Amino acid sequence: MIRIKRVYDPHEPDDGHRFLVDRLWPRGIKKESLSLDGWLKEMAPSTVLRNWFGHDPAKWEEFCRRYTVELEANSKAWRPLLETARTQTITLLFGAHDMECNNAVALRSFLEARLSDSPLTVDTTKPLSREEKTMQKNVWVDQDVCISCGLCVENVPDVFRFTDSGKAEVFDPAGAPEETIQAEAIDVCPVSCIHWKE
Ligand code: SF4
Repeated sequence: MIRIKRVYDPHEPDDGHRFLVDRLWPRGIKKESLSLDGWLKEMAPSTVLRNWFGHDPAKWEEFCRRYTVELEANSKAWRPLLETARTQTITLLFGAHDMECNNAVALRSFLEARLSDSPLTVDTTKPLSREEKTMQKNVWVDQDVCISCGLCVENVPDVFRFTDSGKAEVFDPAGAPEETIQAEAIDVCPVSCIHWKE
């Protein structure tokens, strides 16, 4: 069973396993005061998508479609959660005020569709819009400059790996959200040799 709940609501015994599914830590809550089995920020909508949506109900349907596209490209993140939900209760925690149109509602629908093996209610085969193509930028490593420090491989192993020559390379540009790649690889590379492909 998959439940959803505001992160500000009290912990209840039948919550089961509790996971925060927002990318940002909720305001006003101390980490030590929140009972959690995990903070699944890698499963949250990308920052670009979240900012575009802005909790505008008029964008809800399209938000769900775009979020589903992101989740489909990030199955490593949600498959363990799905397996847990097959046999146990999980509760997805979110911070938004809107109880009906938020990322936890969309994520629950996405996971429940897979639990029941029912077809998706959103069309992920629709051609990507120009805006979405812009969102799915590729990342690459300038291996002539890479000094093999390993930071990108260590921080974002679903995207970067070492080649036989010891240089880093990108093997799955969609292996992590863009902001993770930006913050944990591009921004920390000591020789600034990781770039977005425009
Ligand atoms: S962080 Fe930069 S220098 Fe270090 S391995 Fe990755 S690409 Fe190479």
